[in-house]
Amino acid sequence: MEGILISHITIQERIRAMCGQIAEDYKDKDLYALVVLKGAIPFFTELLFNSNMTLPFEYGPIKVSSYEGTKSKTLRVEQFDFNDVTGKDVLLVEDILDTGNTLSHLLQPLQQSASSVRTAVLLDKPERREKPINADYIGFTIPNVFVVGYGMDFNNRFRYLQHIGVLKKSMYEK
Ligand code: 5GP
Ligand code: MG
Repeated sequence: MEGILISHITIQERIRAMCGQIAEDYKDKDLYALVVLKGAIPFFTELLFNSNMTLPFEYGPIKVSSYEGTKSKTLRVEQFDFNDVTGKDVLLVEDILDTGNTLSHLLQPLQQSASSVRTAVLLDKPERREKPINADYIGFTIPNVFVVGYGMDFNNRFRYLQHIGVLKKSMYEK
């Protein structure tokens, strides 16, 4: 690990503030939090299960897999029935907005069935964007570094760390 980028206490304080904002914005809506597996689980838990959340809400998981083809990476949504969110005010909860490919891929079918769709991301890396997309709720904007911890992994490891840390370049660059 190169070092800690965002400490656990800073993460918690920021997410609580985001929760207050969401509770206010959704007070007359029918909130359905759609959690993008697996990275967004800690963020989602902190975001909606605290005393700033004053609204009833539903939640469910969604999983996106990427398949490395010969030419490009294709994304596929696994076992999700978009009818489940018909008429709901969906809040898509994701760990990182990076190139934007994942969220763009999810937004289009969701917008067809849901009554409204917004996105909440813990981290935003705007420098890496390939798709014209921005999140509605953003925890922290960070530079172009590879982070792990607080749900985010490197080869499925380090998700359990409470702080968000920067991984040493030597771990993933040859
Ligand atoms: P996008 O489709 O926006 O490029 O990527 C979103 C996904 O890429 C995130 O949900 C996350 O799984 C992964 N990702 C992007 N940047 C990082 C990073 O710095 N660390 C980790 N662990 N995953 C990342
Ligand atoms: Mg992810």
